[in-house]
Amino acid sequence: MTFDELDLAPELLKAVKNIGYKKPTTIQQETIPAALEGNDILACSPTGTGKTVAFLLPALQHLLDFPRRNPGFARVLIMAPTRELAYQIHEQATLLAANTHLKLGVITGGINYGSHKEIFEKNNDLLVATPGRLMEYLETENFHAEDVEILVIDEADRMLDMGFRGEMQRITDEARNRRHAMLFSATLESNAVEKFADQVLNDPIGIMAEPPKSETGKITQWIHLADDAHHKFALLVNILKQEETHKAIVFVKTRERLQTLIGQLQSEDVRCNWLQGEMPQDKRLKAIEKFQNGWVKVLVATDVAARGIDIDDITHVINYDMPRSADVYVHRIGRTARAGKKGTAISLIEAHDVRMVAKVERFTDQKLKRRVIEGLKPRYKEARIVKKKKVKGKAAKKVKLKKKK
Ligand code: AMP
Repeated sequence: MTFDELDLAPELLKAVKNIGYKKPTTIQQETIPAALEGNDILACSPTGTGKTVAFLLPALQHLLDFPRRNPGFARVLIMAPTRELAYQIHEQATLLAANTHLKLGVITGGINYGSHKEIFEKNNDLLVATPGRLMEYLETENFHAEDVEILVIDEADRMLDMGFRGEMQRITDEARNRRHAMLFSATLESNAVEKFADQVLNDPIGIMAEPPKSETGKITQWIHLADDAHHKFALLVNILKQEETHKAIVFVKTRERLQTLIGQLQSEDVRCNWLQGEMPQDKRLKAIEKFQNGWVKVLVATDVAARGIDIDDITHVINYDMPRSADVYVHRIGRTARAGKKGTAISLIEAHDVRMVAKVERFTDQKLKRRVIEGLKPRYKEARIVKKKKVKGKAAKKVKLKKKK
């Protein structure tokens, strides 16, 4: 299927071509026609599947098909759990609406009311917002959601995880005049999402993006065995200094580990930026921007801090620390190989990580390749790492018997 086959206005198709999208992704092929017909949508779609364009195009098309008759507040309201995600959606919407006269706005915490006032006064057509700040404006009557015709809730699972249930309930109640609603969630398996979807959506069409397991097929994955922390660090520096490592995100498990690693990398002349939880918003955006623009090619982050960032062209995801579960592994590596591009995911494995590797292999149904770097080969083989203590005597016989069974 091509974008031309979707019932979209020429000004939107032109924007899609200018951005460089060749053909719609699976989620776009399924969502756009269903949304254009005015159906409620319940989509299971993690980031990286093209979900943002899937809800933006039909929403923009609606605004073009039914131009505003009366002055008022936003007619399309898109709710996002985090500031970064809200800005990313707004950015994509701006690109897609480049050839139209539609007015778009974004409202998040961390920014004073003065700059938002303008958005409310200017007959804004499409508004992207985070729940906390929008609630404040609803309560102070600076914003009303009665004009909302299309309501989109992005990353609903995370929205509920972050404790926005009450806010979302109120916002969806206020937007009661809507024509239809779309709810996107990385997973639909949680009871909370199911219950929430039941309340918000009316006879929705269910859409599944390709599951992340098959998405991982585009990513070249391998592991390096590391004898100890010192060896692991040497492997990391080697990988980061390789020419083909253009843009790498390095995951660590705690804030403390992050600080230590940054110090170590800097002493090896590896320029890097970092993201950690509870970072001032301006610092955070600056770190992301520098990485996005390619001024620094390494970004060190914890899982929590990396939530919601969507950066194109990440060539390498490096698990300096393995995650605590296999689905987080899939989520991490999904930050590379976005929308048809190639990507590499490398995990640095010490003895205590071997079990997690096995879990990941079972979960993704693929064996991770083992690789070595010349000059940095591990002294120990994997089997030795797993079986650190040699079992002798009677106990050894028991193990043998167990194995035979
Ligand atoms: P999302 O799932 O919305 O986070 O999108 C992931 C990435 O895919 C974004 O960087 C988009 O710019 C990109 N993208 C969205 N739709 C397409 C498409 N049809 N073809 C290629 N890239 C796309």
